[in-house]
Amino acid sequence: MWKRLLLIRGAELAIFLLLAAIPLLVNNSYALGLLTLLAIYGILLIGLDVSVGYLGQVNLGHAAFLALGAYAAGLCVSLPGFGMLEALGISLLVGLVVGAVLAIPALRLEGPQFALATLSFSALTVITLNEWEGLTGGAQGLQIIRPDFFGMNVNAPGFYWLCLIFLAAVWIVMRNLLSSNWGRAFEALRDSPIATDAMGVGVYHYKIAAFAIGSALGSFAGGLYAFNFQYLQPHSFTYELMVILLLGVVLGGRKSLWGALLGAALIVLLPNLLSNRMLFQVFSTLGLLMALAAGARGLMTRTTKPFQAIAPIVAMGSLVIGGVLVENTEDWRKAIFALMLFSVVVGLPDGLMGFVTRFLSKLFNIAPPALPVAAVLNDVLPIKQVKGEALLELRNLKCYFGGVKAVDDVSVMVRAGHIHGLIGPNGSGKSTAVNVISGLYTPTAGAVMLHGKALPQGSLYQVAKRGVARTFQNLQLFGELSALDNVMVAIKGVYRRPLPLLLLGFARREEKRAQAESLALLKLVGLEQQARTLAKNLTYGAQRLLEIARALACKPELLILDEPAAGLAQPDVTQLIEIIKCIHQRGITIILIEHHMDVVSELCDVVTVLDGGKVIAQGTADEVKRHPQVILAYLGTAPEMN
Ligand code: ADP
Ligand code: MG
Repeated sequence: MWKRLLLIRGAELAIFLLLAAIPLLVNNSYALGLLTLLAIYGILLIGLDVSVGYLGQVNLGHAAFLALGAYAAGLCVSLPGFGMLEALGISLLVGLVVGAVLAIPALRLEGPQFALATLSFSALTVITLNEWEGLTGGAQGLQIIRPDFFGMNVNAPGFYWLCLIFLAAVWIVMRNLLSSNWGRAFEALRDSPIATDAMGVGVYHYKIAAFAIGSALGSFAGGLYAFNFQYLQPHSFTYELMVILLLGVVLGGRKSLWGALLGAALIVLLPNLLSNRMLFQVFSTLGLLMALAAGARGLMTRTTKPFQAIAPIVAMGSLVIGGVLVENTEDWRKAIFALMLFSVVVGLPDGLMGFVTRFLSKLFNIAPPALPVAAVLNDVLPIKQVKGEALLELRNLKCYFGGVKAVDDVSVMVRAGHIHGLIGPNGSGKSTAVNVISGLYTPTAGAVMLHGKALPQGSLYQVAKRGVARTFQNLQLFGELSALDNVMVAIKGVYRRPLPLLLLGFARREEKRAQAESLALLKLVGLEQQARTLAKNLTYGAQRLLEIARALACKPELLILDEPAAGLAQPDVTQLIEIIKCIHQRGITIILIEHHMDVVSELCDVVTVLDGGKVIAQGTADEVKRHPQVILAYLGTAPEMN
């Protein structure tokens, strides 16, 4: 563990010290200009990575935030005569506010619509900057004098060091943020917004916060950009820049600060790469070699399909050949960007950094950091005594879909501490009923009462906040997160540190506590050994159990399990029964939708039978099994009743 930490922190320190030392070693103003741009683009790409890497959205508005920040800083200096720090503060604020405002409507959109919304914003910004000549100077451009910093005149190396200090600060703060429950929430809502809401984490405020933070970094970088070039023109911030920025993030490696820095280095070097034929040939040959190495490795370990291995080799190969044939590579730059982007997207989905990390962790034999010892289950889910009082009541609940009466006037009482079975043939409305209770669907009529108070309707998040947790019949895991992280996303009552302290890195103890508690829940469902496995790589049975552990992390009063045994092999079903018994012992009330009658008979205190959206019987498992209407309803699926 220490070895890993020392290596990573050591590498960070070394790279920043090296970057800081370069102006002392080489006296070259051109190189200094490139380095300054590297620091600025580093901040810019770390910001872009929040929406592209963590939220998983194609964000085409980041160049516009760079422009907004740049003009905001420039105007603050030329109009009210602000100093550098105040102007940069304003830049940051502009991005934060505009980012949040833009996020509210845009983030209700997904995928291509989100990309289009941000693209429109980008176009609108550039046009406004162009047309509002009175303020921005329009296409003529805006001249800016680099202001004083605390009364000091900043020369070129001084400004570079300042940019580097800002980059280091952004690096530390973002590392703390993205490795905390915030970063996990961002990724969780990328993989399953429904589950994120159902775990009481809440989609929108995290989405808005993520987008606003990323945009704020973009416009902060804009402020530095303005003071670096001291001249702004709207057409520097158009679509082409946006494509280059995306190339930087994807090529460098998403979800990685190092990836952002590497991506920034690449896009800073790109113009030189294109204007210098020798350099271009060296780089494209390197690219081809990487594509060959990655392809061969992927094919040997059988982790890539032939197309994934061959396509980047062909693309990079054509760059090498093109470099020999073409006189002026600059004329071909868009084709070159396209080929590079294509190669990375197909061949190196984790970017260069993913490739390098895998290589280095093998070379230095770096294991992932050790996990703490699992907490005691009683501390995580204390045993509560419950006395069978009324907990949840459905009153004349109806949920219609067009003409389909999925739930038709259902009234049921669930008592605290009971395992309440909900059975019925396929399509009888069981899932719809729990979807209404948990807030996924809004009922057509009727009410759901918890402790005699109406539950909010149509909001998974609000219902989860009232202590109702659930699993999903068609699994809703956070596939790209590890089993442990899936549970940690949902863990309740651990994170209390306010954001500023968290950003400064004062949340380690909470993080350890969250890990220990989550491990206890994984242990309960027998998945402690798979804590580090990505949820999408777990077996189907393990995924079902992981959903239960994650729901328990909400420390619920009522747990709804929608067909937890579906698709499980018999030994897993036996294990599941033990797990449900253990949860029950802790005083957690359970609504169990189940097809296997033996499971129902063994576990349930009360069973409600639905058919065609109506309650046709209720009682103990033995009672309902003998009920004539139940036998009739199950005819045809009778073998399940035993
Ligand atoms: P069960 O879980 O008991 O198998 P469901 O609650 O999933 O049954 O479905 C009950 C009925 O409601 C079915 O006829 C199903 O087609 C319909 N239904 C469920 N969800 C929707 C939906 N989102 N839109 C339209 N019809 C739905
Ligand atoms: Mg169902």
